[in-house]
Amino acid sequence: MAVQLFVPNFRVDECLEGIRECLEKGWTGLGFKTIQFEDSWKEYTGLPHAHFLSSNTVGLHLAFHMMKAKYGWSDDAEVITTPLTFVSTNHAILEAKLTPVFADVDESLCLDPVDVEKKITDKTKALIFVGLGGNTGQYDKVLKLCKDRGIKVVLDAAHMSGTRVDGKHIGHDADVTVFSFQAVKNLATADSGMICFADAEDDAHARKLTWLGINKDTYARTASQGAYKWMYDVEELGFKYHGNSIMAAIGLVSLKYLDRDNAYRRQLAAWYQEGLEEDELIRIVQVAPGCESSRHLFQVRVAKRDEVLMALNENEIYPGVHYRDNTEYKLYSFGAGTCPVAHEISKELISLPMHMGVTKQDVDFIVSKLKEIVRISVDS
Ligand SMILES: *Cc1c(COP(=O)(O)O)cnc(C)c1O
Repeated sequence: MAVQLFVPNFRVDECLEGIRECLEKGWTGLGFKTIQFEDSWKEYTGLPHAHFLSSNTVGLHLAFHMMKAKYGWSDDAEVITTPLTFVSTNHAILEAKLTPVFADVDESLCLDPVDVEKKITDKTKALIFVGLGGNTGQYDKVLKLCKDRGIKVVLDAAHMSGTRVDGKHIGHDADVTVFSFQAVKNLATADSGMICFADAEDDAHARKLTWLGINKDTYARTASQGAYKWMYDVEELGFKYHGNSIMAAIGLVSLKYLDRDNAYRRQLAAWYQEGLEEDELIRIVQVAPGCESSRHLFQVRVAKRDEVLMALNENEIYPGVHYRDNTEYKLYSFGAGTCPVAHEISKELISLPMHMGVTKQDVDFIVSKLKEIVRISVDS
């Protein structure tokens, strides 16, 4: 039986029940389930604010767009970022017409505080930290560097739904944290995300901007009186970035099972770890001490990665790669050569299958095949 990298595990009947509720009520858009999901997310994470969006990608753009306007940054304002991420992270910086500056990663595949410090200039206004695979890496040190210098911190928590450090959910110490509930993330809907600001005013402003800049307070007031629903005001240029009730209905069900699912992911990771840790040809990407990772990913590093991947595919094992060094893309080629560690590690990375359908037997099979293949490829 083929083992895929990611397969979402929807609790179909419960999801359909939630969707049915929306359809019967005649309410599929903004409001109703989106508010329930925001409330449940705040309760689950302990974060003070949460606004439901159509994706993490739009949330990252919104974060930079809002900070740029709020603090009056110019286009040459610099944002420190990682080359080892999904392009959404870096697109958000460019879309807000800010300047990405790549800093290198450490063995955790997250930003390395030593290189971050070297990349800070007078123009550095913000930093975006990606918790790769659910890991926090050296986030604490990076955060301190930023706080000491008044640099704003965005946490791209696309892989971090349910990640805790010393028992506490991540996100409470960043200026803004953005989660992803895209179809193959560890809390799956189809497409959606959550933006969690530290500041109440930012949260209120974001709610306006994600609905085209329409002044909803006025809307709510007039709507409650029945007439004059059209009598809202538009005070500034916004976006259509808010989430809808159908996605929220699915998200609410997934959230119920998130801790249980993540615990199983950690079990899979422990089995992989046990099977692979003695092998000197396979390096396991380790989770930071104190971090209870969501385990969106389990990653290893091997030589001749492309050959190894192909051989695994021949055995019906279909891993992934997270990620290609973004400075290899034409759009980000201005950063080429600035992050040698990320560049080298990126060529060795393999993400092993990680989802609720993977069994202990699958892990044993993958472990033994991987060991065998790595040996053959090294000898060839
Ligand atoms: C998936 C992902 C995103 C984008 O999330 P969407 O909800 O699909 O927009 C951003 N950053 C990282 C690291 C991701 O893996």
